[in-house]
Amino acid sequence: GASLKKVIETKQFNAFITVSKNEAEKQAEASLQRFKSKQSKSDLDGVPIAVKDNFCTKDIKTTCASKMLENFSPPYNATVCQRLLDAGAVLVGKTNLDQFAMGSGTVDSIYGPTKNVWKCKADSNDFHIAGGSSGGSAVAVASGVCFGAIGSDTGGSTRNPASYCGVVGLKPTYGLVSRHGLIPLVNSMDVPGILARNVDDVVSILNAVAGHDKQDSTCLTKPFKKIRLPPANKMGIKGLKIGIPIEYNCEYLSDEVLDMWDEIAQTLQNEGAIVKEVSMPHTQYSIVCYSVLNQCEVASNMARYDGIEYGYRADDDHSTEKLYAVSRRTAFNDIVKNRILTGNYFLLGRNYEKYFNQALKVRRLIMNDFDNVWEDAQLLLTPTTLTEAPLYSDFIQKTNRDQCAFQDFCTQPANMAGIPAVSVPIKLSKNGLPLSLQIMGRNLSEPMLLALAKYIE
Ligand code: GLN
Repeated sequence: GASLKKVIETKQFNAFITVSKNEAEKQAEASLQRFKSKQSKSDLDGVPIAVKDNFCTKDIKTTCASKMLENFSPPYNATVCQRLLDAGAVLVGKTNLDQFAMGSGTVDSIYGPTKNVWKCKADSNDFHIAGGSSGGSAVAVASGVCFGAIGSDTGGSTRNPASYCGVVGLKPTYGLVSRHGLIPLVNSMDVPGILARNVDDVVSILNAVAGHDKQDSTCLTKPFKKIRLPPANKMGIKGLKIGIPIEYNCEYLSDEVLDMWDEIAQTLQNEGAIVKEVSMPHTQYSIVCYSVLNQCEVASNMARYDGIEYGYRADDDHSTEKLYAVSRRTAFNDIVKNRILTGNYFLLGRNYEKYFNQALKVRRLIMNDFDNVWEDAQLLLTPTTLTEAPLYSDFIQKTNRDQCAFQDFCTQPANMAGIPAVSVPIKLSKNGLPLSLQIMGRNLSEPMLLALAKYIE
């Protein structure tokens, strides 16, 4: 009850699209009864969790922050939501995002931008962005109204807002957590992400949602062993090989983030880890390669929104073609439309080889960089975002928009390779905003990855 009240009261950040008050109250009441009769289902029983609004929730609006799905209520729960409910968690509501998870700021939602909680003045027109596209989920956690939140991560959408909002954000290994019911962006890269205030809380949520699901054919079949991290005072990093990929020191990296990265690497070395520079020469191609693959998959994924089967239907019924066109033109924003057009161009018979197939080959090279680096390092330490959270007024300027893809420079490669990555808040910048670092590991290395995250948090 208290938590729901807080969710409703923290409206000024615009973190939630829908607060599922009635359902959450029922779930909370049931949890209380279980607690009284000593039948709590798990450590998440009764715990408030928010879910990004691109995960299907039975009979609760699932909008993807788009006019296209403004009135869409799915008939089923995404596996992640169902598993949280089965663990007794209370799903308090659906969080804001960039339309169809396309973006890195949570500024392109039909419900308006989400505001970062840090240095946020409720009455000011300008504010620091929350990052994105899971900005609503990050703010639901950072504002203290939720224990944890579910985001999605295709190129950085969980880690980027986690970094800007000063919370922990995990992108699990591709296939470890089911995508069933997650509205797709890039099927071969999408994963549900987890945001919470500390690493132990992330682990509790991961333990509840991970593991095989027969409704997602890309879900790993290997049984998932629940993760138990040692207590912080029993942790050692002696002999742990940590790689510092030099190519992540890129053009727009701020001095403050660079210094912090150096400082933590030095500290880890002083405390017994073997820290050394490694090279991943194809890193710089990740963003452009991603944009080709993303646009191609978007062109195909968005084809289902035709104004007939799902979502918005325009009044224009002169012809079926006209109905499709007007529905799509009216209900998608310019970013979605742009990606559909470009994607279809890349997929034309005469272009397919040149763009799509070429991008797949570059993706393979980026994946190979990771395969090779694991011979020298067990984990990699990099920045998550290049700067602290930008001001909204700066972020939405045209020139910065064009550079927007750079937001994902450090996070995107992990999605190409499918490997796990976590963003951990480290300290505050001179301006009093959170700065974070990212740790990456090989496939299914979550226990080791999260142990190091806990060590440095
Ligand atoms: N910023 C990237 C994009 O716009 C990644 C988004 C995401 O991870 N969902 O596609």
